[in-house]
Amino acid sequence: MNIRNIFCIGRNYADHAKELGNTVPKSPIFFSKPTHSLTFANRQEVSLPSDKGEIHHELEIVLYIGKKVKDGSQVDDVVTKMSLGIDFTLRNLQTKLKNHGYPWLRAKGFRNSAVLTNFWDFPGTQSCQLNDFSLVKNGETVQSGNIQEMIFDFQTIINHLHNEFGLDEGDIIFTGTPEGVGPVSNQDLLIMFWGEQEKGRFVITI
Ligand code: ZN
Repeated sequence: MNIRNIFCIGRNYADHAKELGNTVPKSPIFFSKPTHSLTFANRQEVSLPSDKGEIHHELEIVLYIGKKVKDGSQVDDVVTKMSLGIDFTLRNLQTKLKNHGYPWLRAKGFRNSAVLTNFWDFPGTQSCQLNDFSLVKNGETVQSGNIQEMIFDFQTIINHLHNEFGLDEGDIIFTGTPEGVGPVSNQDLLIMFWGEQEKGRFVITI
């Protein structure tokens, strides 16, 4: 599967914006990651930086754009696959960068900062509402969300990305994290669930 641009949206769930002391945005906050940040969760060890402060997990629904997006394109026509992903974030570094007004790239774009489950066929926006997505860390559910809690829905995100940057086959979108983000440690086992179904697991090495 050929992945091109990795777009991400920040603060797309109100309770998560609040837990970090951020205001709820009036328009979507976008950032992106280099493709070198990508890896797939295949029961392997995933190595993360050891010398840059706390690393937080952010569990997110990831959309795969399968067709060129045009004016008026509908989500269900252009999104062909989906997965779950972790948007790993160097939180101390991100706070520092934010305070200086610097870009987030170093806090969000490091190697292995985007861990994806395998993609599956997109069932349609309506159908996505029927499943919560959740992250289990060492046997405990630490994050759980549903797209109904999003501030900007899939269609709004896609409209904005299309207008501002263009969207085409192979682009993927991290659609934001629900509350419950928190630090990871060496040897943590992370498992991503779509409803009751396990979609991917991996172990962290730091
Ligand atoms: Zn995120």
